[in-house]
Amino acid sequence: MRIGHGYDAHKFAENRKCIICGVEIPFEKGLAGHSDADVAVHALMDALLGAAGLGDIGRHFPDSDPQYKGISSMILLKHVMRLLESRGLCPYNADVTIVAQRPKLKNYMQQMHINLCEALNLPEDRVNVKATTTEGMGFEGEGLGISAQAVALLIPCGQAE
Ligand code: MG
Repeated sequence: MRIGHGYDAHKFAENRKCIICGVEIPFEKGLAGHSDADVAVHALMDALLGAAGLGDIGRHFPDSDPQYKGISSMILLKHVMRLLESRGLCPYNADVTIVAQRPKLKNYMQQMHINLCEALNLPEDRVNVKATTTEGMGFEGEGLGISAQAVALLIPCGQAE
C-alpha cells in the first residue's frame, strides 16, 4: 500500500468558469489557470502521483504546453489513472477536502462525489469529498480563491481487498 498527499490553490478571476471535481458551479467568478483550474482534481492527481512516486502534475502536464490549455482536469485525471495502471497500481480510496468560503458547495457535493467515483473506478464508500470554510480567515476566507487537499491510497491492481 502506498499513500500520497496533494495540495493546490487557484485564485478567482473574471470570465472564468468555476469547475470543481468536474462540476460547473454557478458563481460570479471562476478559477484562473491554464487548464480548467479544477483545484480539487489537481490536488487529487498530485496525491495519486505522489503515492505512485511519479512526481506531480506540473511534470506530466506542464502549463507551458498548449495542448493542456483549457483542458478538463477530469481528462487529465483519466490520464493519471492510466499512468498508475501502467505501473500496476490502482486507487484503494481517496479523500478530498475543498477549502472555500464561497461559493457554497453543498448542492454540488453529490455530483462531485459521483464524478470522482467514476474517474477513480471506485465504489461510493471509498471516495470522500468534503468542503470547509476558514471562518473568513486567509485567502479562501477573504474570497480570493479556493484551495484543496487530497490523500489517496494505492494498492497493486487486482489485489484481494
Ligand atoms: Mg492547479
